[in-house]
Amino acid sequence: MTTPPAIVILGVGALATARRIRSVYPGSSVHGLQGRVADADVDVTFTELTAHLRELYASGTPIVALCAAGIVIRCIAPLLANKGSEPPVLAIAEDGSAVVPLLGGLSGVNTMAREIATALDVKPAITTSGELRFGACVLNPPDGYTLASIDQGKRFVSDLLAGQATRVEGDAPWLDDVQLPRDDDALRAIRVTPLAWSGATDELVIHPRSVVVAIGEAREVRDERLHEQILEAACERGLAAQALALLLAPASRVGEPALQQAADALQIPLRFADGDASSDPDRLLGNTLRMPHKILDDGDRAPIAFAIAHAPVDPATVGRARGKLSVIGLGPGDASLMVPAARAALAQATDILGYETYVKMAGPFRADQRVHGTDNREEMQRARHAFELASAGRRVAMVSSGDPGVFAMAAAVLEALDEAYDPAWAAVDLEIVPGVSAALATAAQAGAPLGHDFCMLSLSDNLKPWSVIEMRLRHAAEADLVMAFYNPISRARPWQLDKALEIVRDFREPQTIVVLGRDIGRPGTALKTTTLAELKSTDVDMRTMVIIGSSMTRAFRPADTAREWVYTPRWYKSADFNV
Ligand code: SAH
Repeated sequence: MTTPPAIVILGVGALATARRIRSVYPGSSVHGLQGRVADADVDVTFTELTAHLRELYASGTPIVALCAAGIVIRCIAPLLANKGSEPPVLAIAEDGSAVVPLLGGLSGVNTMAREIATALDVKPAITTSGELRFGACVLNPPDGYTLASIDQGKRFVSDLLAGQATRVEGDAPWLDDVQLPRDDDALRAIRVTPLAWSGATDELVIHPRSVVVAIGEAREVRDERLHEQILEAACERGLAAQALALLLAPASRVGEPALQQAADALQIPLRFADGDASSDPDRLLGNTLRMPHKILDDGDRAPIAFAIAHAPVDPATVGRARGKLSVIGLGPGDASLMVPAARAALAQATDILGYETYVKMAGPFRADQRVHGTDNREEMQRARHAFELASAGRRVAMVSSGDPGVFAMAAAVLEALDEAYDPAWAAVDLEIVPGVSAALATAAQAGAPLGHDFCMLSLSDNLKPWSVIEMRLRHAAEADLVMAFYNPISRARPWQLDKALEIVRDFREPQTIVVLGRDIGRPGTALKTTTLAELKSTDVDMRTMVIIGSSMTRAFRPADTAREWVYTPRWYKSADFNV
């Protein structure tokens, strides 16, 4: 479940090595310096290395940089003073001949160095003494295990390096691969247990995440103190908080904020048990856990119950998650114009829905992600389908181009929710992530035609009567608003644009500036400035954004240069309007 690495390259020379590394990590991406590598050859482009590496580091993304170690160190150094979680950072020779783990000893950098070195068929430059001596780092246990105390861990490993032996108590198969100085009679012990560490300095306690904590319907477990109650209950039973694998609650409680807060505070996933909504958490555990486990018997009907499994529990195998529906906007097309929150929602999605064109634009997707782009059902049906998936626990991303709330899916999704009046749908974690709408993207290309009051109008009469469109056009034209036309024309709506222009021409001068943006942010993009008199509907198609200027909108070439800019000043002055 860890974040896939970003493989960063500065030139085409590193591309081959980068691709070999990418194939080791599903979901990883190659990030290339713009201008040095073709956009099409990489997954992500960036313009400035330092800023890009810092952003990746700060977001906890593992970094595999195919450049000199010194460059990477200089870029990231200022962030190091700031102790926090440290993602793995590696420098790799562009030709794949050297693999140098730099940072992230406790987040698996040496494991990554070994994996990458194996793929490149070289020896990694591992410098961590514990790793070298024992072949793996006991301080960096695999997923499902966690150290009781990192400081105690460091002390313990230096004792071993100084020649002490250890016995191993408890079950952790991965420890068998570590060449520890083992001795069954040793004074020191590595203990693998969900029970809390006593603080004894002659032992290294590793907790398997094998404890499932469950709550039922009881009133006592309904307030914002829940996470403290859980910690107290765990403590009373001698259990370590780090051994908790997940919080399980009845499906009837999906969407209660107190539950998510408790899970977040405990840093464990929240899962729900479907079916028999039991008021009794013991029964909830018994009915839901599929792996061998033991329920701690408290005799009475305690509101919080614990089960201990024989091995770390993968939360994904217990009950289901609260479903999530992210309605996102991709922006006009160019990946750099998609907001990071939309990208994050796409990365987390188990299911992606939308018009096929947009779904293609949002990809590529991982093999574990389900894409529902091919079905050509209408929008309300697609919105309902999204809720059905999300209310069953899936993480759904519904994609629109531009902004999802501008003539797109967000309103359809909310309409579906409004109509359904379904508690299961209401419990879905719904978010709308904004995007750069076509009018804004086109305006930015042209300059600032929307610099003063403007309106956005869809000329499509599929979902509203043409008479309403005419009325709005008249009012907007009369009000001297800049107008952005979406859906200006299509094969099924051939005459509407001419009719619309006729109305606008009744109110606006022939020399009014018009901007046409076609496929903005996409291949073959075209931007054109013209005037209302010259504008012909044949210049426009369904992939065009039409911006009709106000009486104030101007086009000019600074000091007679070739580049033309269009803008609408922020102030207003007009004899006709008595302002
Ligand atoms: N939600 C979208 C709009 C969907 S309506 C958004 O916020 O941008 C579809 C219309 O938007 C198209 O008919 C066209 O007029 C406009 N449009 C969408 N993407 C565009 C692009 N990349 N370039 C120009 N116009 C675009």
